[in-house]
Amino acid sequence: MRAARLHRYDTTLAGPEYLVLEEVPDPVIREPDEVIVRIEGAGVCRTDLHIVEGQFRDRVPVVLPYIPGHENAGSVAAVGPGVQRFRPGDPVIVYPQITDGTCLACRRGEDMHCENGAFPGLTRDGGFAEYLLTKERNLVRLPDGVSPRAVAPHADAGLTAYHAVKRALSWLKPGDSVALIGFGGLGHIALQVLHALAPVDVLVIDRSETALKLARELGATATIQAQDDPVSELRELTGGRGAAVVLDFVGEGQTPQQGLAMTRRGGAYFVIGYGGRLEVPTIELVDQEKTIVGNLVGTYAELAELMELVADGRIKLSVTYYPLDQVNQALRDLRDGRVKGRAVLVP
Ligand SMILES: [Zn+2]
Repeated sequence: MRAARLHRYDTTLAGPEYLVLEEVPDPVIREPDEVIVRIEGAGVCRTDLHIVEGQFRDRVPVVLPYIPGHENAGSVAAVGPGVQRFRPGDPVIVYPQITDGTCLACRRGEDMHCENGAFPGLTRDGGFAEYLLTKERNLVRLPDGVSPRAVAPHADAGLTAYHAVKRALSWLKPGDSVALIGFGGLGHIALQVLHALAPVDVLVIDRSETALKLARELGATATIQAQDDPVSELRELTGGRGAAVVLDFVGEGQTPQQGLAMTRRGGAYFVIGYGGRLEVPTIELVDQEKTIVGNLVGTYAELAELMELVADGRIKLSVTYYPLDQVNQALRDLRDGRVKGRAVLVP
């Protein structure tokens, strides 16, 4: 099959080529519960850039070359002999983390903390290819009328946004304010999930006027230009208090400090994007009783819930398609902030 593989890290993301397009052997089913999915869409994520620059080099066991791509959707191509619920041809979105289902974390429903997990596209071959090997446990059947390639980014981007918003609900009361920092792939989904699940005001902070325009079209209460003084502006818009919840989809540069400063007394600062550092005097956490929350993707059940919202027409995903052989262009566009919504590779 045709696949895009990472052969060596590019620590400065200088490019121009990150991945190599080549013919590789098709995946083979070896376990009874394995399935092969014919990829119809594979979302391109900022994590793919972090993979290319080697941020995971010492964190996950991976042997180069391998195939990135962890936002996968398509149709079932082949099933192992133990597979019960799916047949070839079924349209599916793929939950990204392969779990054993038997460890304590799995039994608590904390799929991302599985003690024997694997993450195709990060720790083994992913979906920037024609076919992907995964397990029956990972498949979420798509509701009628939902096209796999149009929803592929929900497998990680959408799921991560949904997971963060669902956890944030325990801090939110009707009429509260939520600040969204970064209105790209995840941010624009989070705004819609908030509208679907919580009666709150949403204030969106971004550098791009195009992004802020989209935020207003999607019903943001107010938008704030990130280059100005976003902390003061947000405080002014929230009667001096700050936001009950701040969802930071950037997590680098100024945003960790700004995000924590935007959080009101008793509120929570959610770190979703990553790459930077956060320094905070401990007295600020105690005196203002702020909580800092880390977020790692989401659960299988949450992906199924998100697909219900999608089928209901509650979540519209903005997508730009690229043929698989333009994967390097897609990564460069993402690096340069030129992707509208989320980039999706189509083999
Ligand atoms: Zn487990």
